[in-house]
Amino acid sequence: MKRLARSLAVFATLCAATILPARAEMDVARLKAAIEASIEADYPGLDALYKDIHAHPELAFQEVKTSARLAAEMRALGFEVTEKVGRTGLVAIYGNGDGPTIMVRTELDALPMEEKTGLDYASRDKTTWNGRETFVAHSCGHDIHMASWIGTAKALLGLKDQWRGTLMFIAQPAEEIGAGAMAMLGDGLFTRFKKPDFAFALHAGGYPHGYVNYRVGAGSSNYDGLYIQFRGRGGHGAMPQRTIDPVMMAARFIVDVQTVISREKDPTEFGIVSIGAVNSGTAGNIIPDDATVLGTIRSFKPEVRAKMLAGVERTAKAVAAMSDAPAPLIQLTEGTKAVINDPGLVATAEKALKAAFGERLRLTPANTTSEDFSEFGGSGVPLMMFNIGVYDLEKWMAANKSGTPLAGNHSPQFAPVPKPTILTGVTAMTLAVLSAFDQHARGK
Ligand SMILES: [Zn+2]
Ligand SMILES: [Zn+2]
Repeated sequence: MKRLARSLAVFATLCAATILPARAEMDVARLKAAIEASIEADYPGLDALYKDIHAHPELAFQEVKTSARLAAEMRALGFEVTEKVGRTGLVAIYGNGDGPTIMVRTELDALPMEEKTGLDYASRDKTTWNGRETFVAHSCGHDIHMASWIGTAKALLGLKDQWRGTLMFIAQPAEEIGAGAMAMLGDGLFTRFKKPDFAFALHAGGYPHGYVNYRVGAGSSNYDGLYIQFRGRGGHGAMPQRTIDPVMMAARFIVDVQTVISREKDPTEFGIVSIGAVNSGTAGNIIPDDATVLGTIRSFKPEVRAKMLAGVERTAKAVAAMSDAPAPLIQLTEGTKAVINDPGLVATAEKALKAAFGERLRLTPANTTSEDFSEFGGSGVPLMMFNIGVYDLEKWMAANKSGTPLAGNHSPQFAPVPKPTILTGVTAMTLAVLSAFDQHARGK
């Protein structure tokens, strides 16, 4: 017995020497309560910030006041802030010991449209856009993202004994024109500053607050622009034999190009070609010289994208050849790529978000819209982008039942309920960031 006891003691000593004490699991319930308390205490400030930004939106690369406002907030929190990164963007860094660098991104820009929500803090601001005067509105919810971004920074600083590493909070301009992420990267985002180990972003959407939607892999689509000018020979509408009719070519192209989708693309893969503008002619009895067609091409996978681009080009050329017309002018412009959510990063965040949101965390299909957050992933940073709802559940259900659903993003009626939406955004983002720090600390 004595010998057994001694060998057990030796075994115990060996175990203690070789097995590190297990790091306790993240106590999500306690952290969530702490985050909620932080938001409750800070809410008057967040509400004022949200409503001010909402009432005074700025368009892509014009976000001077918005950016300055966020810079002041982050400096007051103790972040080291660099402004004018990628024209109107900003980078805010906060070091808290050894550990990974985690990036959290918000957008800064609004849309050139009139807000029609009737809210007392609705935007009535106007600006000049492409040489024309236009109203400006935060109808995509980027103001919700900014308030959540500031709230997350505050919550993480309040919990700084829970993590070690560096926060890299970036405010990105010009998401709506798909140019801001590239502008920041081109201005040295990952060379003048440290390239982050992980990056998170969120986006508001037209469903109930308290819900968080996420995806593994593709979360948004590849976006390519289509501009085709069919060149014919104009003349009298009563003497078509003397003309080459570009309107006919445009019409054929618009119909035939859909067979690229229905006959050439794998039917189980996502792909869209939509024609949004057709411009030609001035009068009913004149066959014009040319016709232009503008459209958008969306896909999730590179091979599907390549197939569609080739099909669009071939169809346009064939349509012109069929009319014995000169070759069309074809411009297919590469837009933003699909956001690819990193499976490892998502699995880590998913665990914490599930514990916090339960059934209100939902794995959903990818969005068919596009988003330039993907550019940071293209630079080799594992990404996760998730979505949060903005409406009261009862109102949302009643509206669906009535057959007139509540407005979605880019609608003039898009009107998030600020407090519970920002609460969802801050809670989800803070827990996602904490989960990534925690996972890193476990050495996985
Ligand atoms: Zn948008
Ligand atoms: Zn947006």
